[in-house]
This record gives sequence, C-alpha cells and structure tokens, in this order.
Amino acid sequence: MKTLQELTRKNIWELAPYSCARNEFSGRNAKVYLDANENPYHAPFNRYPDPLQLALKDKLSKIKGVPAENIFLGNGSDEAIDLMYRIFTEPKVNNVVAIEPTYGMYKVCADINDVEYRPVCLEEGFQLNAEKLLAATDANTKLVWICSPNNPTGNALNRDEMSKVINGFDGIVIIDEAYSDFSTQVPFRSEIARHPNLVVLNTMSKAWGCAALRLGMAFASKDIIELMNKVKYPYNINLLAQQQAMEILNDPYEVDKWARLILQERTRVMDSFRLLDFTKKIYHTDANFFLVEVDDAQRIYDYLVSQGIIVRNRNRVTMCGNCLRITIGSKTENSELLAALRAL
Ligand SMILES: *Cc1c(COP(=O)(O)O)cnc(C)c1O
Repeated sequence: MKTLQELTRKNIWELAPYSCARNEFSGRNAKVYLDANENPYHAPFNRYPDPLQLALKDKLSKIKGVPAENIFLGNGSDEAIDLMYRIFTEPKVNNVVAIEPTYGMYKVCADINDVEYRPVCLEEGFQLNAEKLLAATDANTKLVWICSPNNPTGNALNRDEMSKVINGFDGIVIIDEAYSDFSTQVPFRSEIARHPNLVVLNTMSKAWGCAALRLGMAFASKDIIELMNKVKYPYNINLLAQQQAMEILNDPYEVDKWARLILQERTRVMDSFRLLDFTKKIYHTDANFFLVEVDDAQRIYDYLVSQGIIVRNRNRVTMCGNCLRITIGSKTENSELLAALRAL
C-alpha cells in the first residue's frame, strides 16, 4: 500500500478542520454552556449534538466488534461513499475501479466529483475475479469499490478473491457490506486491523430497520477515520437519529428475529417464483432481496404497478436484462405480490 499521505489529496491532508464549540470543550462535567450561541430554552433540541457521536459509537463497538476509534458515522452510507472521493481523489486526474453491476451511488458520486469511473464486469454467476479487477487499475487509481452481498445481484462475492484485491492494490479498497446481516459469510469489518487500506461500510437502513434515520457506518484504520471526521460536516448526525439508533441498538435480538423471518419468507417467495411460467432464472442470494430474470421485465413491472405493487426493474442494468429485483417484505406483503403474479 502507498502511505496514507500519498493517497490523500494534498488540500485534505493539510486541512485545518472547523473547530466547533463542543469539540474544543470535550469535558463532561460543565454545568453552564454559554459557548455555542444556543437558545437556553427548548431542551434537548436547543443543544448541538455530539459531533463525534461517542455514546452511539461505544454501543456500536460492542455489537459490531470494532473499536470505537475505528468507526465513522455518516448521514447514510452515502455520506461515507462521497467522503471517499472527497478525501482521496483529485477531480479530472484520478480514477476509481468498481465491480459491475453494483450499487449506483459509487458512480453517481464519481460523476459529482468529476472522477473517472471504471466498471469491471463480474464473471458468470456474478462472481468476482480479482485479477481482472486489478488489471483495470493504473497509477492514477485511488479507490476500488466492492459490494458483498452485492446489490442488485444479491450474492456474496468469493472471500478469497476479495482478499486478493485488498492485498494486491496499493490504494483504498472499499467493501460495502450493507447486507452482511443476512449473509453467512464472515464480514470484513473484523479484518480492518490487518489491512490499513480497507474501508468497510455498514448501514442501519436494511437489517436494522432504520432507513429513515439516515445512519451509515464506515470501519477503517484510526488514521482513515480521522480524515473522515476532519472532512465531514461538524454535526452530521442529528440528535434524534443518535437517540433512536441507541434505542434500536439496545434491542439486537429484535433485529435477529426480523432477519430470521425475512430469510424464511425469502425461501417461500423464491420457491413460489420458480412455479410462475414467466420466470426464466432466479439468482442465488445472500441478502433480503433476490434478482429474477423473467420473459419481459417491463410487462411484469407495469402490471405490478397497476396492482399497486412496486418492485425494482433492473432491465437496463448491465448483465441484468429482463431482471426484476424483489425485496422481501412482510408475510402479508409477499402474499399480495404472489397472488397478483398468479393472477397475471
Ligand atoms: C441500501 C444500500 C446502502 C444503504 O445506504 P444508506 O445511505 O446507508 O441508506 C448502501 N450500500 C448498498 C449496496 C445498498 O444497497
């Protein structure tokens, strides 16, 4: 790996971050706060929230098995994705390499930041070939994007191939594990201590049932986390999100229960899809959704819309011609979907 200083944009490496009132005062025992021009009335919303979300990170640390100093919290994973570009890539100069097909935000953020995006198609069965991915990198490649279990394909990528990418690339490798709670694969967040160039993304939006909170996580070396903290907006996670996240984290068994139910339902829905005559192929999944190839994705998508049921039409995505992506809902929702399709 190149040194972190070599990988980081010069202006970011040299950036003196905004120092907010609550950063400067990090003690916990003051009784009068007259430092931030807040209104003394309307507690608790009158006060700025903790800029580093320490209480929340402490709780997450225990659940995720990652030290708090190795955790960044963002306004959704999307903030962490964008920060990777803003910290490491020079617009119009650097490029990034990503698996294809995958989550759309990696490319959108590349375009916003005016950074060249190099998609590399997955193999048969949507599997990763490390050598092929690495062959697309050059001296100007700063980031490599991997997503496992992958969206929209659903499958977990081969772990050895992902390790080869981490070991074989001298820049930053990001592995997005938004769906790891649904997978039996050992997550990569446990490996950040061994790989200073690895950033792992998690989110509260899927298994944890908190998409509305907008809370995403990055796990990485302390040095990378410090760069992210330096560049983020000072108070990027609002108080309500921090409080609600603490509450759901107090109830991890509820989350396990949801995940088990969703996986049971996934089996039922996929089994039913196999019996529908327009189904051509159902892809293996390790997530809370699956990808299905049908005879005419647009026809089935439009029909479902007319029935008030929305799935994701992935027909235009590379390697996903005539594919629909189906999220596993509640038992009732899934039954409604299946009933509508059987009536088609
Ligand atoms: C849904 C999803 C996310 C979540 O993004 P948030 O901004 O945290 O809601 C991240 N990555 C992938 C691949 C996803 O599918």
